[in-house]
Amino acid sequence: MEPIYIPNLVKAPDRTLSLDVRDRLPGLESLTAVTGRMQVRHQRNYLEVSATAETIITLTCDRCLQQYNHRLKVDTSELIWLDAAADKQDADGPVDRAADGPKNREVGLEDLVEVLHPRGYFYPDGWLYEHLCLSMPHRQLCDRQCPGIQPGPDARESQPLLDRRWASLAGLKIEN
Ligand SMILES: [Zn+2]
Repeated sequence: MEPIYIPNLVKAPDRTLSLDVRDRLPGLESLTAVTGRMQVRHQRNYLEVSATAETIITLTCDRCLQQYNHRLKVDTSELIWLDAAADKQDADGPVDRAADGPKNREVGLEDLVEVLHPRGYFYPDGWLYEHLCLSMPHRQLCDRQCPGIQPGPDARESQPLLDRRWASLAGLKIEN
C-alpha cells in the first residue's frame, strides 16, 4: 500500500480514503496475503483510521511446541492526532530507533504512531502491521484441549512445593 500524503485526504470525497488490502506486509510472516479494508478519514485535527483485515500465520503451541496455523484478525479503529509539533519526532525518530538496534524496535510495538504532522505521511502498511501484531494471542495453543508435553518426573516433584505454599498460607490464617 502506498503511503498517504495527509493533505491529499482533505481533497478526497468526504475527506475519506478507502483502501482494499490485499498485500503481504513487510515483517509479518503470513501464509496468505493480508486481506481486508482500511479507511482513513481526515477530521481536521486528527485522522480516524479503521480497518478490518485478516491473514493466516503459523504459531508454535505453548503447551506441545507443535506449529499450528492461526487466523489473525483485526477489526479496529484508532484516532491519530495531527500536530505540527510532531515534526521533530519524525526527524529524530528513525535515527534514534536505528541506534537502539533491532531488539528495542520490537518492544516499540506499543509505541504506535499516535501523532503525525498535518503535512506528513500516513503509512497504512506500518499501521496495519502494528495492529495485527497487537492482536496476536498472548496464549498460543494449537487446541484448547491440547494435552501438551506429558509431564516428566520433574513436573511431579514440583507438586509438593505448591502444596507447601498453600500450607504456609493456611498457617497464616490460623495465626490471625
Ligand atoms: Zn499444542
